[in-house]
Amino acid sequence: MISQMQEQHENPKREWSLQDFEIGKPLGKGKFGRVYLAREVKSKYIVALKVIFKEQMEKYRIHHQLRREMEIQTSLRHPNILRLYGWFHDSERIFLILEYAHGGELYRELRKKSYLSEKQAATYISNLTQALAYCHEKHVIHRDIKPENLLLDHEGRLKIADFGWSVQSRSKRHTMCGTLDYLAPEMVQNKAHDYAVDNWTLGILCYEFLYGVPPFEAESQNDTFKKIVEVDLSFPSTHSVSAEAKDIISRLLVKDSSKRLSLQKILEHPWIIKNADPSGSSNMIK
Ligand code: AMP
Repeated sequence: MISQMQEQHENPKREWSLQDFEIGKPLGKGKFGRVYLAREVKSKYIVALKVIFKEQMEKYRIHHQLRREMEIQTSLRHPNILRLYGWFHDSERIFLILEYAHGGELYRELRKKSYLSEKQAATYISNLTQALAYCHEKHVIHRDIKPENLLLDHEGRLKIADFGWSVQSRSKRHTMCGTLDYLAPEMVQNKAHDYAVDNWTLGILCYEFLYGVPPFEAESQNDTFKKIVEVDLSFPSTHSVSAEAKDIISRLLVKDSSKRLSLQKILEHPWIIKNADPSGSSNMIK
């Protein structure tokens, strides 16, 4: 299947249709459509099929966003980035053929456990950092990294999914987007932003993995905005978290984007070296 998918990528004439797939159980529902488990008839290869109704796309004017998502995601090849093998459409729907992430959403795992161990958190942060370094090398800023967009495969390996808000650019961006709790101060204040917004988000996620809630969560959006801009960061004493973990978080949640820990420095940080599983698989996590 993968080679067929690659063939399609290299030979745009190779076309998929709904007849090529047996449709299985629904896997989830997103903003713009549903996702189903599916099996390619010939190879029996299991995939996730994302169905988007053209009517919805027109209503929300997401043509450009979707095309961008598809183009970016098909071009990326990294063990921690969900593969998009191809797509096809009929008169009403667009179908995205995605790598199947058997473990589902990391978000669900996090909510189930309340918070993760330092080993789990460091393994995920290390994987995310490597995937983002790869994206940044290709001039892709994700900008919407959050637990809902992180899936797990059958071995517990983290996969970044949903490139809907990502953008391919060498220049600074001005569009305001993303989810409030994960926004960097420069985005909240609608200032130009660059790759460093993803580094900020790594700090937010690291905190959320270890404490179960994002650091600037508040009663109202306004309060969250204020907390982000002031970098009003505190570490609750509900359970013990190592000084090294707090150190890496504090070095990522820095208002001046040029002073945030670089992706390379994250991978060299003692907390990552000591805790992250180099195999990247989190079977030990289960
Ligand atoms: P989305 O429309 O991308 O937000 O997807 C909606 C939900 O479907 C997600 O939150 C996941 O629970 C599930 N899902 C999406 N893509 C996959 C996939 N490739 N493998 C397994 N589950 C998925």
